[in-house]
Amino acid sequence: MKKLKYLVIHCTDTPAGREVTADEIIQWHTAPKPQGNGWRKVGYRLMFQLDGTQLQLAPNYSDGYVEGWEITNGAAGYNSVSEHWVYVGGKGCDTRTDAQITAMKDAVLAFHKQFPDVLIVGHNYLNPGKACPSFDVQKWLESIGIKQIL
Ligand SMILES: [Zn+2]
Repeated sequence: MKKLKYLVIHCTDTPAGREVTADEIIQWHTAPKPQGNGWRKVGYRLMFQLDGTQLQLAPNYSDGYVEGWEITNGAAGYNSVSEHWVYVGGKGCDTRTDAQITAMKDAVLAFHKQFPDVLIVGHNYLNPGKACPSFDVQKWLESIGIKQIL
């Protein structure tokens, strides 16, 4: 069991307006190759759909620690100290709907209040070769009143 260090924000890399269900994303991640990624478990704990609905994709205790069974596979090399959230969309650019932005803002602010020491970062901060999540997470955090030193 390790202390939670990062909240990592992702996108599903799907086009604007295209909804994704929990079953779909679990299938993409866990189905054997080449249909899916062949992972043991879905990559993210929480997903924000187009209308702002939050879906819990994997359970966890939300206690600031990551136990083995809580690990999801969102960012290679960082999963044992990370929690992963994803919004539906993000193909090529920031496609977040107003409802998604509002839902993410509320959830991120609540998370930051509970775990002020956990760094909130985009996937591309940990894996710089990635475009995910297709927006500047630190700039957005500052716009909602969260300033961090990375
Ligand atoms: Zn990602």
